[in-house]
Amino acid sequence: MDRGFDMSKERRGIRRVRMNWQIKVLLPIAAVLLDGLLLFVLISLSLRNSDRDLVLVIATGGAVAICSVVVMVLAVEVRRPMMELQKKIAEVREGDLQVRVEFAERNDEIGDLGRDFNDMVRQLRESREEIQRLHRTQMSRAEHLATLGEMAAGLAHEIRNPLAGIAGVMEIIGRDLPHDNPARAVLGDVRNEVLHINRIVSDLLEIARPKAADYRDADLVATAEHAAMFARENARHVPVEVVKPAEALPPIRHDPGQIHQVVLNLLLNAVQACHENGGTVRMEFEQDDETVSVAVNDSGKGIPPEVLQNIFRPFFTTKGNGTGLGLSLARRIVEDHGGKIDVTSWLGKGSRFVITLPKKVESHESRDTSN
Ligand code: ADP
Repeated sequence: MDRGFDMSKERRGIRRVRMNWQIKVLLPIAAVLLDGLLLFVLISLSLRNSDRDLVLVIATGGAVAICSVVVMVLAVEVRRPMMELQKKIAEVREGDLQVRVEFAERNDEIGDLGRDFNDMVRQLRESREEIQRLHRTQMSRAEHLATLGEMAAGLAHEIRNPLAGIAGVMEIIGRDLPHDNPARAVLGDVRNEVLHINRIVSDLLEIARPKAADYRDADLVATAEHAAMFARENARHVPVEVVKPAEALPPIRHDPGQIHQVVLNLLLNAVQACHENGGTVRMEFEQDDETVSVAVNDSGKGIPPEVLQNIFRPFFTTKGNGTGLGLSLARRIVEDHGGKIDVTSWLGKGSRFVITLPKKVESHESRDTSN
């Protein structure tokens, strides 16, 4: 990395005798003053009274000369570095981080200021180079992921058609098999596996190539209740209760299809968490001035901390037949709506997932990632 900033000169400077800039300024002034005073005394002693006026003129001339010297010294010692600093700051502001001030070689406080300035510019330059390097890495990673996403979407698309064919053939074979044929059980397993692959592939396709959202002002409670109805069909022995909000919710801008999918996913996870040791699932609503929330509570097995930190990662699942895509998809959909999903869990006691959506959204379309 180009350091640009030559520290050796500064170090060389530091070894020179250090003198405050005030002393540097005052020394020549004091010298001239002393000279003038001596001259005045000498001339006064050696001249007669009549020549005193001439001495006064000479002394005045001397004072003017001294003032000129003071101004010049100030210009050289103080004003010039300040002007240079101003100029270099303007260059830095324009984006040139190769600049350095020459007065950094001075061995006084002004030199210190120069060295600090040069050092600061060097640090800025290094930070900028680091940011540019990180940006390049991120860009190439994003391109890489985009290509992978495209490939996954293409593959998923290709897999779905033959899969539908296999499911169809299974159906026909099953229909033709006698009822007592043991192959029927195998066919059932194959059908379940095909459905499982189809679920994974569909979720993958949804993640890689999300459909355009259809946002509208709609009844969020109705959307969530619709999902609860679907969940009950899968719930078997787990009761799914819906507690209506105490105060009616205003229409909430959302894509009912997408939010239905999110709530259904949370409900099915909750139901599955209650399967082993029993439990109940309860959905409730809350609102404040700016947001509404749908909470899905279960009194199931809870989520261990090491699992909890991974549940939103794509393909993370603890279930034999899980896809591990439900929660990552849910989070993406809710975030596209300008909302968030929070989770709290108590091991052995249950979990609570809360979807929070804004009551007013400026523009969903600006967040629409579909094409
Ligand atoms: P999947 O359900 O296919 O496994 P998800 O992304 O929906 O994928 O869930 C990821 C994981 O999060 C699940 O495998 C499970 O371990 C955990 N999980 C989610 N919801 C709950 C819940 N209510 N109770 C316990 N574990 C849960």
